[in-house]
Amino acid sequence: MAVLPANPSDITPRQVANKSRKQALAEALRMTLDVQSAAIRHNTQTFNRNRYAAVARIADYDAMKDRARAIKEKAIADLPALLQQLEASVVANGGHFFLAKTAADANSYILDVLQRHQVKLVVKGKSITSEEIRLNPTLEAAGITVAESDLAEFILQVADEQPSHNVAPALHYSRERITALFKRKFDTDLPLDTGEELTRFAREILRQKFIAADAGITGANLIAADSGSLMLVESEGNIRMTTTLPPVHIAIAGIEKVVPSRSDFQSFIELLPASATGQQLTSYVSILRPPLPALPFVAPGKTERPREFHMVLIDNGRSAMREDPVLHEALYCIRCSACLNVCANFETVGGHAFGGETYSGGIGGSWETGTGKLMNARFSELCTGCSRCVPNCPVRIDIPWLNQNLRQRMNQTQENSTVKSIFGSLTGSAPQDKAVPLQKQFFGNYHTVGKWGTQFAVLANGSTRLPMARDVMENVFGVDHRRELPAFPRKTWEQLFREEQQRGVKAGTIEPGVVMLADTFTNYGSPERGMAALRVLRAIGVDVVLSPSVPDGRAAMSQGMIETARFQARAMSKMLRPYLDSGRKVIVVEPSVLAMLRFDFKHLLDDESAVAALAANSFEPLQAVWDIATETGLDVAKLFPAAKSRYGTKLFYHAHCQQKTCNAASQTIELLRAAGFDVVTSAVECCGMAGSFGYKHDYYELSMAVGEDLFAQVRLADLEGGPRVLVASGVSCHEQLTAGMGRAILHPAELLQSTLEG
Ligand code: SF4
Ligand code: SF4
Repeated sequence: MAVLPANPSDITPRQVANKSRKQALAEALRMTLDVQSAAIRHNTQTFNRNRYAAVARIADYDAMKDRARAIKEKAIADLPALLQQLEASVVANGGHFFLAKTAADANSYILDVLQRHQVKLVVKGKSITSEEIRLNPTLEAAGITVAESDLAEFILQVADEQPSHNVAPALHYSRERITALFKRKFDTDLPLDTGEELTRFAREILRQKFIAADAGITGANLIAADSGSLMLVESEGNIRMTTTLPPVHIAIAGIEKVVPSRSDFQSFIELLPASATGQQLTSYVSILRPPLPALPFVAPGKTERPREFHMVLIDNGRSAMREDPVLHEALYCIRCSACLNVCANFETVGGHAFGGETYSGGIGGSWETGTGKLMNARFSELCTGCSRCVPNCPVRIDIPWLNQNLRQRMNQTQENSTVKSIFGSLTGSAPQDKAVPLQKQFFGNYHTVGKWGTQFAVLANGSTRLPMARDVMENVFGVDHRRELPAFPRKTWEQLFREEQQRGVKAGTIEPGVVMLADTFTNYGSPERGMAALRVLRAIGVDVVLSPSVPDGRAAMSQGMIETARFQARAMSKMLRPYLDSGRKVIVVEPSVLAMLRFDFKHLLDDESAVAALAANSFEPLQAVWDIATETGLDVAKLFPAAKSRYGTKLFYHAHCQQKTCNAASQTIELLRAAGFDVVTSAVECCGMAGSFGYKHDYYELSMAVGEDLFAQVRLADLEGGPRVLVASGVSCHEQLTAGMGRAILHPAELLQSTLEG
């Protein structure tokens, strides 16, 4: 890892962005932890908390998201016709319309307009599209000064840095760093120690620019084809000044911003601020139909000039994205940044590491690929697939699925080799995935590793602890030597189940019965947790059988081995069919596998009825217990009396990220509380382990840095009320909490099982 200079704030993110992705990640992580942690974590987590509160106040939030998604889907489907309609509307309004095929076309048109008007100074409102086409360098090379008018962009222009966030580009700056920057760059004795003083200082400078500017450039949040109206949402009023003060206004936007009519703006006016910053309404919402009427006054030193308006719509790869069976979904994005703020990895490193040339966060990889090139999206490897962004995206974009597809495309650019092919054949990769790097094949075929590991558990557990073996694992498969590898059990869940059946088990009476899915992670990693969940279900009278253990596609999909995942999903769907046909519900212990059945199989299976049946009939075990208990009026406190637990009654419970996405976490908390446990819950979106992510040498430090939020919450709970038993539902969360806290972790089913034993 790079050695920091004496003052870490001397490394600018632009310097970081110029380095290789691996170096950038390492340095951004160091900068984040040493310099920016307070600012990035504080700002993203505050936005995220406020967003939860704001969307909870929207009465028909889910219906509104559906409407917004439907508007965007239709608009993208009808885009060629809408563009023609928009051109006619803009021209009828008295404006000029230009459809730029490339970034160069857009720049050259804009430069031509400005040179015709002999423009020397342009004020620009925040526009990520202008970053995408590199407009500022083009104009500056032609002698035109560009003044960024958004406060955050102004700060970054002074600092010569790139944005680190879509909505709050200078989010990585604390107030103290802005004060230091302004003091360094401007010759001023003014006090700049508060937000108000800093804002007043910047406003004085910017006001002069607005008055002096010959042209204003803005983006647009949405554009209505039927009237040529622009919707502009902002919080500082600078966009209003940019559109009204200078005589020439140029609006630049991607073609995906076009919707049929002004009435389509409505859902987005509510969803955008709520999703972005947690506000019910942004301070300034402008709906304009330019060119606007001339101002009733002329600024000092200016002559009266008629208003002129140019709409520059940019394709730059978007038409190809529209044709792409996967990437077209990214065109629905309204750039609210909810997916950045809810993302534990983004909260830790920000957009300079988790970002590309222009676009950042989980959605950024698709945009970098669509408007640039695939390899610009390498940072999307930081997407762990935790899925927390999916339910929080106002247009329901399946961001992890996009990133898994990018990973597949990047995998396919790798050179094939005999070693990889032999390894792929031994582990069971689909033929299309045999070219992928060995590390991905290793992590993507967990079921093979687990199967052999449990069969030869003594040998496997002994040898994986040898330093030489750990060196090989790190160098060949990228498994970080600092991660403790969980021991393989001597018996799988399937074996333990058979043994219990042989001892004789009373049949359950509650209908319908269930099949517990012997998911590979529980079967080969933690069979005792599977047995505990099974016994808890039996304790309330449910008839339980165990399925055979077959891979579900989760491990393969997370490595971008989508064909292997597809093959495995088909086999699992076929295996589960008879159980579903006989009326049994499917119970899944490992939440990441539950999420496969609930959400991900729709991408992998052609049979829509099988997808729907699996999604509707799969449950987390304690969710099933709580649902049955509430439906049948079971006395949980009597069945599972917390006082009888041999572990004590004070708990700290951490729900798995995908369990939360499946809406299958709150039931566990309700159940434990109803049983009499005193439960403190974690407030993090993800523990940072995320399956194989935290095992990887390249990401170990990031994984632990993300985990630190969770560890701090455990420590605080311990301090406030004495040590608590640590309880978590996911395999990865167990491993991360064990690594961070050095204590044993229980599955909630193990805790409830212990109440049955006395
Ligand atoms: S799936 Fe998780 S890691 Fe990936 S972008 Fe979404 S929140 Fe971030
Ligand atoms: S992908 Fe969704 S959550 Fe992320 S910025 Fe776009 S609209 Fe917002």
